[in-house]
Amino acid sequence: MEKIIRRKSRQIMVGKVAVGGDAPITVQSMTNTLTSDVKATIEQIRRQELVGCDITRCSCPDEDSAKALKEITKAVNIPVVADIHFDYRLGLLAADNGAACLRINPGNIGGADRVKEVVKAAKANGCSIRIGVNGGSLDKRLLEKYGEPTADAMVESALEQAKMLEDNDFREFKISVKSSNTLMMIDAYKKLAAACDYPLHLGVTEAGGLRAGTVRSAIGIGSLLMAGIGDTLRVSLTADVEEEVKAGYEILKALDLRHRGVRIISCPTCARRGYNVQKTVEELETRLAHITKPLTLAVMGCVVNGPGESAHSDFGVCGGKGGENMIFIAGKPAYKVKSENIVDELVRLVEEKVS
Ligand code: SF4
Repeated sequence: MEKIIRRKSRQIMVGKVAVGGDAPITVQSMTNTLTSDVKATIEQIRRQELVGCDITRCSCPDEDSAKALKEITKAVNIPVVADIHFDYRLGLLAADNGAACLRINPGNIGGADRVKEVVKAAKANGCSIRIGVNGGSLDKRLLEKYGEPTADAMVESALEQAKMLEDNDFREFKISVKSSNTLMMIDAYKKLAAACDYPLHLGVTEAGGLRAGTVRSAIGIGSLLMAGIGDTLRVSLTADVEEEVKAGYEILKALDLRHRGVRIISCPTCARRGYNVQKTVEELETRLAHITKPLTLAVMGCVVNGPGESAHSDFGVCGGKGGENMIFIAGKPAYKVKSENIVDELVRLVEEKVS
């Protein structure tokens, strides 16, 4: 099996979290509360932290939101990126109020003097920057040149904006070139990866609801990660904020790039199943959501594939006849449990192992 070889990118810091170089690929999300509603935003970030979010982002559409970052960033444990559009003064305010990174596009804040001001504030506050090019908001000049949003147009925009920061002797930035078109996004990131060594933030933008968005992101982000491209990622979903983080980890787990929490291997079930596998998996996902240590659990319906999958798992259950099911520990059959006790028994084993 070939191992993924990661592109060599330079490393930057987003607060205390390293992005790029040999740092683990980080999972990001974004809040959807009003940032000026400090209490609600802190609560939401804490929910993101519980499922392993490494970095979050808050929109700052007005002064109240940028100022709210002061209290928010003091109350949470993960770095907060301030999402700024057009108004560079909000970027200055966010940097002064605790933002660890500014998502701001130097090309749309109105000229070299303003870029200089933003870089000055970023340097003074130890802030990094994300250049966030989006296929849906390319500037008019590039749209006229290319006729429509294209991967080349996005890359040209990203490199132009990178140059604006480099001209101010600033290299603490990462870049994203997101598109809602998965193939275009893949193409753009590949071209950008070949053209620079800045860390890349991966994402399919406006990806959709939980199912469609997860699948599109898994294909877009996943195929880039397989090519060794990508240092941090966000799965954008129109869903609960925790789902973005969980989906991000699932993509990383599937590629063996980063593990967190319990990875459940379960069969789709069929007439041979010895117990209700679907209900068991749903209950286990909920009851084991707090586990952070990487562990594998095989939840299998019968002896056809059960022993084989359980053999490579920390714990497993394999459905048997008459409501008697075999528990596997470290790949070996250990003892039988009744169907109604499977969940309690597996939760007990996992919690014991991580305690
Ligand atoms: Fe069916 Fe058994 Fe395979 Fe599950 S492991 S899908 S129950 S044959």
